[in-house]
Amino acid sequence: MTETLRQTFNRPVIMGNELHYMAEAIAGEKLSGDGPFTKRCHSLLEHELGVQKALLTTSCTHALEIMALLLDIRPGDEVIIPSFTFVSTVNAFVLRGAKPVFADVRLDTLNLDESKLESLVTPHTKAIVPVHYAGVGCEMDAILEIAIRRGVRVVEDNAHGLFGRYKGKYLGTFGALAAQSFHETKNFTCGEGGALLINDPALAERAEIIREKGTNRSRFFRGQVDKYTWVDIGSSYLPSDVLAAFLYAQLENREKIQSHRQKVWVTYQAGLTGWAARHEVQLPFIPVYCEQAYHMFYLLLPTLDIRQAFIAHLRQRGIHSVFHYLPLHLSDMGLQFGGRPGDCPVTERVSDQLVRLPFHNALTEDDQQVIIEAILEFDF
Ligand SMILES: *Cc1c(COP(=O)(O)O)cnc(C)c1O
Repeated sequence: MTETLRQTFNRPVIMGNELHYMAEAIAGEKLSGDGPFTKRCHSLLEHELGVQKALLTTSCTHALEIMALLLDIRPGDEVIIPSFTFVSTVNAFVLRGAKPVFADVRLDTLNLDESKLESLVTPHTKAIVPVHYAGVGCEMDAILEIAIRRGVRVVEDNAHGLFGRYKGKYLGTFGALAAQSFHETKNFTCGEGGALLINDPALAERAEIIREKGTNRSRFFRGQVDKYTWVDIGSSYLPSDVLAAFLYAQLENREKIQSHRQKVWVTYQAGLTGWAARHEVQLPFIPVYCEQAYHMFYLLLPTLDIRQAFIAHLRQRGIHSVFHYLPLHLSDMGLQFGGRPGDCPVTERVSDQLVRLPFHNALTEDDQQVIIEAILEFDF
């Protein structure tokens, strides 16, 4: 165990074959997108998750931007998004002119509060974007029921939730589309990267076109058309095959990565449950029908002041813990869209209370014991 391991909140996982596969991609002289390693990542995701189509992208942010294009989001459209999420979830739709409508989250899972969802739907609502916070599934039955009845599309931001399940079904397979992230801070990474999962077959061909600069290049390479040309709007959303090679080394080790993360999560839970109960600290809640993706371990401390003192206490012991999202409806941009204090009370509260513990694949049990002991020494 080293100081730096504990000091670091996140370390990207390295499984061993990354350099080997990258060398293979380079030796194969296919460095641009949609090469052999990209195809291997696509078919692994498609077979493993049972999705119609998976397309690697340069980031989750870009996968979300493709979604907004595929849904034909236009000025005047409204998109319902939890206030407790990363900026990209909302930016992708605002870029197309949409008005974000911020939803509050549940206090137990910190996921979109389905009980308050229906009152946010208007005739202008085009999409609902659930975010599976910490890789724990949102209440998809209720969300889909409302969406279908009100004629609104559901698209998932599944940046935290790859290989997590809700009622036995993989996260990312519920909405018409889902976005994955392979950023350095996520369970599986290639530095910067993402994927678009397509569950509605009617959107598959246009997704390929938008991702390929608005051309029918993919159809051309499959021999379905005899020349390729400009057919729609689009951009360049393909990652280099060298990055796909790096990613493939991680995806093929998904069970090892996830079982280590599960162990880290369970060790924190076992070590902190008694202390948390004595101090009215809330630990993550996992509904019995959710198999979480083990993306993070967080604590909700009673107040902002206690949370700040807790972070300082751990810092003094060389341990790096961090807070998370600030309410989007109260950000500079959120205020311009009419956000007001009190709009999303749970989001406002948990944003002040939440702290994330170091969580990565290089954490050993010894590291975690040191972290847990330091937490148990924090009395308040
Ligand atoms: C990380 C993250 C993103 C953005 O992912 P990038 O791959 O960095 O673009 C979007 N949404 C959520 C919820 C995230 O955690």
